[in-house]
Amino acid sequence: MVEQVVAYTFVDGRDKWKWEGDGDTKLSVKDLRGLMLNQSNIGNSLPFKWINRIPLKLNCFAWRWFQNRIPTSLNLIKRGMAISSSLCPFCQIKEEGVDHIFFSCPSVALILLRWLMDWSSLFTRLPNNHQDLMEKLESANGSKYMQKLRLSLSYTTLWMIRKTQNAIVFRNVRRTTILIADDISMDTFNWIKRRSKCNFIV
Ligand SMILES: [Zn+2]
Repeated sequence: MVEQVVAYTFVDGRDKWKWEGDGDTKLSVKDLRGLMLNQSNIGNSLPFKWINRIPLKLNCFAWRWFQNRIPTSLNLIKRGMAISSSLCPFCQIKEEGVDHIFFSCPSVALILLRWLMDWSSLFTRLPNNHQDLMEKLESANGSKYMQKLRLSLSYTTLWMIRKTQNAIVFRNVRRTTILIADDISMDTFNWIKRRSKCNFIV
């Protein structure tokens, strides 16, 4: 990167942002989505799925989660950052890694995953990691609409876990898993109703 900066020839004029995703200079969600989908398939047995019916921020978050790029304490320590505590803010017992926060923390993850699996009619053991979750969702029976609904609910659940975690760390606000599950249901159904024009969702 330093070499690129040194080699760059600066010209007069105002600084500006430039998008080079597809050759022209205009950023579009479609280009961004294509770029992210191409990258996400490297090293994963299942492709990342983009869900139009939920907000862009959730798809971006889910994509980062899919790539193991969530800045948990363990990931930040690996990158050399000084962190005051690497413990999970929910249980304060195990270290805050991606698999613990989203799949094995007894205080939040296990409860919400059980709720998610039951809602999705997937009465199997709980998933251990992101590939396991995606495989379970992929193999579930049901219409395409139901599959997208399950995936939407899964992305929202992961995003809500992260949001709740940040509320503890940065604002010292704790919420019960019942309230979190209520928010996941409400947000998901509101987004889908608004974006998919489904008249049968009331
Ligand atoms: Zn924990």
